[in-house]
Amino acid sequence: MSMCPYFNECRFMAEKLSEVNFAKNSLNMWIETSFCHGGYDKCARYMVADIMGAEKVPSELYPTRIDKATAILQTNSELASFFL
Ligand code: SF4
Repeated sequence: MSMCPYFNECRFMAEKLSEVNFAKNSLNMWIETSFCHGGYDKCARYMVADIMGAEKVPSELYPTRIDKATAILQTNSELASFFL
């Protein structure tokens, strides 16, 4: 699989990982290998960005939190239907 289309604008890689300095290298490498350069379709951040736009992804959303991404998308869907 190719690189995530949101890699250059994803704030997680630049902001969130800088908060965990002691484990930055190993965590950064694991996320990039597991998600950004491989299975980005399994990334919670990608899921939200792909449907709502990259600017709508909460900075604290970890790539592994599919449950939170699902909740965000469900809430967005419910709000959208409310206004239709
Ligand atoms: S963390 Fe997720 S959304 Fe961000 S660049 Fe990696 S795969 Fe893409």
